[in-house]
This record gives sequence, C-alpha cells and structure tokens, in this order.
Amino acid sequence: MPASDEISARLLAWWDSGHTELPWRRNRDPYAVWVAEVMLQQTQIATVIPYYERWMARFPTVEELAAAPLDDVLKLWEGLGYYSRARHLHAAAQIVAGKHAGRLPRTTSALMKLPGIGRYTAGAIASIAYDVAAPALDGNVIRVLSRLYDIDEDVTQSSTRNLCWRLAEELLPATRPGDFNQALMELGQQVCAPQNPRCLICPLNELCLARQRGVQLERPVRPPRRRTPHYDVVAAVIWRDGRPAPDGTLLIARRPLGGLLGGLWEFPGGKVEPGESFAEALRREIREELVLEIEPGEFLIAVDHAYTHFRITLRAYHAAWIGGEAQHLGVADHAWVTADQLDGYAFAVTDRKIIARLRHDLNAGTAAGASPNG
Ligand code: SF4
Repeated sequence: MPASDEISARLLAWWDSGHTELPWRRNRDPYAVWVAEVMLQQTQIATVIPYYERWMARFPTVEELAAAPLDDVLKLWEGLGYYSRARHLHAAAQIVAGKHAGRLPRTTSALMKLPGIGRYTAGAIASIAYDVAAPALDGNVIRVLSRLYDIDEDVTQSSTRNLCWRLAEELLPATRPGDFNQALMELGQQVCAPQNPRCLICPLNELCLARQRGVQLERPVRPPRRRTPHYDVVAAVIWRDGRPAPDGTLLIARRPLGGLLGGLWEFPGGKVEPGESFAEALRREIREELVLEIEPGEFLIAVDHAYTHFRITLRAYHAAWIGGEAQHLGVADHAWVTADQLDGYAFAVTDRKIIARLRHDLNAGTAAGASPNG
C-alpha cells in the first residue's frame, strides 16, 4: 500500500511546480468556488469558463444572485444543461443571503443542508475556500484512487465508494487540504486520463499499484453499460392565426419547476405513446398539458439529443390553434409571442435548434415539409 504522506507530498510538489490557471482559481472567495464547482459538475472546463465569467459579471455576490428573478438565472445558464443546478444555486443563495448573512457556511455538514450541495461540492468548497480538511471525491479522483491503490471492486457499488472516500480522507495532509484536493482533481483531468493515462510524467508513477501491475486501463472497474432507452418526442409550434408568418403569434410553455429542464420554456409536446401517430401524440399532449385543440401541420425539424439516462428524437411541427384558452395542467406558464420575442426566454438546447430552423424558414419564406402522419 503506497504511503499516504508520500503521495500527498508528491502531489503538492507537482501542484506547486505549475498548475492550470483558471478564472475561479484567482482567489478563494467561497461564492466563486461554489459557482465554479456547481458548473463543473457534468460539464467540461472549456465549456464552463465563458459561462462562469458571464455569471460572475452579472451576479458577483450571493446577494445579487438571491435577488435576481429565476428567469434571469435560467437565461444565463441557457445551454449549460442540467438546469436543476441553476435552480438549486438560486434557491441556496436565497437561504445564504437570508439566514447566513451572505456568507457560505464553513463546515461540510452545514453546506450539505443547502439545495444542490452534496458531499463532493461541500468538501470542495470547505477545503478550497476555508482550508478545512475535507475530502472531495469526484469522477476524476475516483479514477486516480482506483488506479493508485489498484481497487478491483466495482466503483458504482456503495461499499467501493465508501472505500474511496476513506482513502481520500486518509490522504489529506494536515496543511493545504484545498490545494491537495485540487491537485488530485487536476491529476485526474490532465494526467490520469480515462483512456490514455500519461504514466511516464505522473508524479505518482513510482507509487501506483495499477501501473506496477499493468492494469491501469482496467481501472476503475465498472459494470457493463446498459443500452440507454430511446424515445420519440413531438413538439408543436402552435400559431394563433393558423399558419406560420414572420409577424404571427405562437405559443410557448414553461416546464414545471420540479422536473427535467424545470422552469425552462419550450414548444409544448411530449412522448409518443406506442401505436400513436405523431399527429395523434401532438393533439393528445397539447390537450393534456394546456387544454388546447390544435391541428398539426408541416414538419419543421428533427433533433437527436442524449440525456444522462435516455436519448430522444424530437420532431417539431407547425400547428394551428383551433380552440380553447390555455390552462396550466401540465405546464407552469404559457405565453403567446412573436418569433422575435423568443430571445427573451430561456430554452433548452433542443428548443434552441427549433428556433433557429423556424427563423431560417420564416426568413426564407418557407415552412414546407411533411405532415405528422407517422
Ligand atoms: S501512474 Fe498512471 S495510472 Fe497511476 S496514477 Fe499516474 S497516470 Fe494514473
């Protein structure tokens, strides 16, 4: 078993010899560390940087975030995905501003009481911002530890996770735990990569059990991937006057706050049930969600998209409003807007693609395609 203090010393020396400069490493402001850590969950560093810069310019303090309308927060997050992160940041900022005088708590247990802060994020904030000796175990760190200690158990099992948390805790040096955690994460990002670990330049190469045994690529151990399910989804661009027109009014709906993409705006629709045609699915979904009667028309665009646990093919169609006034049975809100007004609302990436095609077709004066009789 490699010695903990030697691992820590080597990692800190490697960190001190030069690490990546990132906007959120300019200081240790707990709010900045928190925002960066939340954005970095599930998202690549290069994608996060411009979002982080825009966010900190618009909401430089917890108080300013807490006072902002949720729509502004979601608009700024638009395109970053996993929108519950933005909703939780906003809700947690209101708690920190209201109950903690705008200061994030120092302990992991208090941090974990805030919406959206789990054990990893709490450990990262406490250690980086406050130098509290708390471990922070993310996917990168799990990979490094499973190789360093040659863990041959399935890392998706809670017993193996607990072992990794214990190891990460044992490795923490008494001084500079924040730098140590960041070094471990950066080693996983830059050196101990999933497919091509750069063992020759790794500061831990002489201590790494998986490297000694030649099994780096077999660690971490994971169960075989299951096929992700695929769903056909339809959406309607519903025109109040029946047909697409550059100055026409169309309907958008706001998704319920609690679910996937909660609080974002969309073109209403939903999943196609077995045996249903796309047109039948559109009529049913719009009736169930908004109590509106529509007549589906021309095909607009098909968008393939992968979420964490499933994939969809979203087919959007023009549709004519033919009756009823919108009620909010399956949506949080609705609005009749022109195509020009769509930029004032936050949409998910799939609906942004619908908007781009819509604008293209309206500008070109065409809205032609097949009808949804599939
Ligand atoms: S020696 Fe290779 S496998 Fe081991 S920690 Fe370093 S990069 Fe990862």
